[in-house]
Amino acid sequence: MATGKINVSVENIFPLIKKFLYSDHEIFLRELISNATDATLKLKHLTSIGEAKVEYGHPIIEVKIDKKGKKLHIIDQGIGMTQEEVKKYINEVAFSGAEEFLDKYKDAEKDSGIIGHFGLGFYSSFMVAKKVEIHTKSYQDEPAAHWSCDGTPEFTLKKGKKEDRGTEIILHLADDSEEFLEETRIRELLTKYNKFMPIPIKFGTRTETLPKPEGAKEEDPAPTKEVDDIINNPKPAWTKKPADLKEEDYKKFYRELYPMQFEEPLFNIHLNVDYPFNLTGILYFPKLTNDLNIQKDRIQLYQNQVFVTDNVEGIVPEFLTMLRGVIDSPDIPLNVSRSYLQADSAVKKIASYISRKVADKLNSLFKDNREDFEAKWNDIKIVIEYGMLSEEKFFEKAEAFALYPTVDGNYFTFEELKEKIAPAQTDKDDKLVVLYASDKEAQHSYIEAAKTQGYEVLLLDSPIVGHLLQKLETSKEKVSFARVDADHLDNLIKKDDTKISKLSDEEKEKLKTQIEEAVGEKGYTVQLETMDSNAAPFIITEPEFMRRMKEMQQTGGGG
Ligand code: ADP
Ligand code: MG
Repeated sequence: MATGKINVSVENIFPLIKKFLYSDHEIFLRELISNATDATLKLKHLTSIGEAKVEYGHPIIEVKIDKKGKKLHIIDQGIGMTQEEVKKYINEVAFSGAEEFLDKYKDAEKDSGIIGHFGLGFYSSFMVAKKVEIHTKSYQDEPAAHWSCDGTPEFTLKKGKKEDRGTEIILHLADDSEEFLEETRIRELLTKYNKFMPIPIKFGTRTETLPKPEGAKEEDPAPTKEVDDIINNPKPAWTKKPADLKEEDYKKFYRELYPMQFEEPLFNIHLNVDYPFNLTGILYFPKLTNDLNIQKDRIQLYQNQVFVTDNVEGIVPEFLTMLRGVIDSPDIPLNVSRSYLQADSAVKKIASYISRKVADKLNSLFKDNREDFEAKWNDIKIVIEYGMLSEEKFFEKAEAFALYPTVDGNYFTFEELKEKIAPAQTDKDDKLVVLYASDKEAQHSYIEAAKTQGYEVLLLDSPIVGHLLQKLETSKEKVSFARVDADHLDNLIKKDDTKISKLSDEEKEKLKTQIEEAVGEKGYTVQLETMDSNAAPFIITEPEFMRRMKEMQQTGGGG
């Protein structure tokens, strides 16, 4: 038996831990389950390299509530600790055993998935407990250890009674933390933080209905059996290889992530990098129209399958925060402020990788099945247009797949549109004039008028279209957009009379003089321009200022 004092520096740290270590007290459970997971994964690693000569088996982690005793138990079957190790790893606050383990087994880091980093996780249990006990037995042939501490720096460490390998943490909950004795509260936390952790987590039991035995009567009840209630899916879709997943698996995982979401996602993007940073994940394009859950069902950020946050601002490019899904990266620094995150170069790389992957996926969807892409355009355009506005690189990539629908339901890329309308819709200064409507009903007659003149009219009705047009006008040379009911429309369109006129220049000049004489009044302009069309053979227009002057004379303006 040993008694002693935890490292002197701790004396002042305890109250700090309690108040400030994590603003959210509830994360103590995440930390303890992370440690239990680490301990199990370490054992897995050591048995796989033959250093631990024990059977790995099928270890689980168990969470138990003792309501009467006001205790919470977290039990694992991992490597356990010897008394020496408890001294070293538990008593030295901020001395992270995980860090040391990774140092020693460096090459294991990538695939071992070990979570701990800061060496403070364990002490977060003092945010909710007035006393913490550890019963632990190492995988090595050594006596068990029992450590106990009531929140002051004094602790006791003695030989323990635990017989099976692993660690049991017992939290004697503080009076103000009794909410953690409620089954629903613990279940809520487990679902939030541990739903996709790699080791099965048991929380109570549930009744499973078995198939009826042969020859059973109709009225016989089906037999049941009590089984462990495993709250997590230890192998979520994003940890698998894309080649091993079918469309249905992605949809199933979407429902796992968002159980209240009944709308199917439009498509998914599986992310998978290991250089120059580690990142895996699956992003989904949801149907965004009229979706009230847009704020609630957001992209979730994980580190080694532990939920961290669903606020991915600064990590995922802003225009993609409308997507759903998960990203998992051990390389995102989390103990830092948001503004620091945005400036961090690793995080910048991650954001630009994500945006590139999304652009590539959109491009391949467009190429592989254009019809399908066009059908989805209305649901995905907001994200794409927003991306084009906010990121130059995305704008360039989107050239290939951004669509411009016409009022008749045709979809053009900008290049296709240009080719199609250039002959008829180029103005005197060689500028391409793109006509568009924003409201098909309200602008109906203008749309029809433009169409009879042979012009294409786009239907652009997303809320940010004004900004998008401005962006297109400034980034493309010689392009201007005009709303179909704009009054300056006629002036914009170049009437190429040399091409369509059947008359020679000389004949036209003669005809023009004849018409002018016939009209007899000065102040009118005669234009011969639609000579071979079904429309009027020539038009006579009056300049705006002439019309106004005459109006003034008629109303007796001269006195
Ligand atoms: P970290 O996980 O960042 O290393 P913690 O404070 O969470 O820091 O844990 C400190 C150390 O205590 C761990 O690194 C590990 O060596 C040891 N430890 C904690 N919980 C367990 C456990 N359940 N089984 C075995 N060792 C544990
Ligand atoms: Mg830890």
